[in-house]
Amino acid sequence: MPSDRKNAAPLFQSCIAGSLPKPAWLAETQKLWPKWKLQGSGLEDAKRDATLLWIKEQEDAGLDIIGDGEQSRLHFVHGFLENLSGVDFKRKIRIGIRNNRYKALVPQIVAPLQLTGRVHESEARLARAHTKKRLKFTLPGPMTIVDTVADSYYGDRRELALAFADLLNREALALEADGVDIIQFDEPAFNVYPDDVNSWGIAALERAVQGLGCTTAVHICYGYGIPANVAWKKSLGEEWRQYEQIFPAIAQSSIDQVSLECRNSHVPPRLMGLLREKDIMVGVIDVASDVVETPEQIAETIGIALWHVPAHRLYPCTNCGLAPMDREIALRKLKALAKGVELARRLYGNGGWQ
Ligand code: ZN
Repeated sequence: MPSDRKNAAPLFQSCIAGSLPKPAWLAETQKLWPKWKLQGSGLEDAKRDATLLWIKEQEDAGLDIIGDGEQSRLHFVHGFLENLSGVDFKRKIRIGIRNNRYKALVPQIVAPLQLTGRVHESEARLARAHTKKRLKFTLPGPMTIVDTVADSYYGDRRELALAFADLLNREALALEADGVDIIQFDEPAFNVYPDDVNSWGIAALERAVQGLGCTTAVHICYGYGIPANVAWKKSLGEEWRQYEQIFPAIAQSSIDQVSLECRNSHVPPRLMGLLREKDIMVGVIDVASDVVETPEQIAETIGIALWHVPAHRLYPCTNCGLAPMDREIALRKLKALAKGVELARRLYGNGGWQ
């Protein structure tokens, strides 16, 4: 639902992109591809406990939109694949992903894809039962999934993306029925393959959101703060114009909300103007730096975005997920985000209410 229908909502509703660090008792820490520390029912209990912990931390920090912190999945893409038939996790292979930016050990697609049941039902229902705030749930986007698996069956990236989109759509419709308010598809690959985005990436995303009545979102970013991404960003020059190639088509799509990186990024803020009818999740927290932003810095980033986005469509957010970050630093960043939003409401918001 576009935000302008929510007259009573405070301005600048804060949210996280998606992932949060896993506690040391749940999984290896500060890794993008960690291993679980437990097995069986002990692991299921620990996932549940970590999800509840982060819901409480987000609420106590003062965030407006709450997520499950992706505590029940090892990785934001592969978590969705674990309940699919046609995916072989036993014979993973190492491939270059994101246009060979880095190597990853990925499962193979070996047969027609099918859902074998619900994927995220338990954590979505758990989160819904424990927060009265708006609940956002994240799923990997079809193009990013295609870029994070080894296809040994379909032989065509577009066809494979549409097959994933069908399955994502079924899970998304079920998540909506679970009470999720915002379903976000994570598409970091959109910043890597702009031609494919325009020729089939957005079509696959539209297939994934078909029939949804809740708010829909797409998160597009420059990746987690891992060394390969930090090096890639350094190679992109003074102005990062990747979004410019894809925002016009996204503006034409049915997706309600779009995220972009602002804090410590070289994305020209004027590119937000390409998304006129959309809600914009403005990245005001750098996930590639352990330096915790001050409320003043966060309010300043919001102030810059306000030149290009109407206040009621501006959602302060983290640049990307916080999964590989130190847990305490991530928590301090969440608190800073809420404090920065409070300050921005005082500075720009007529008391913060529309
Ligand atoms: Zn991201």
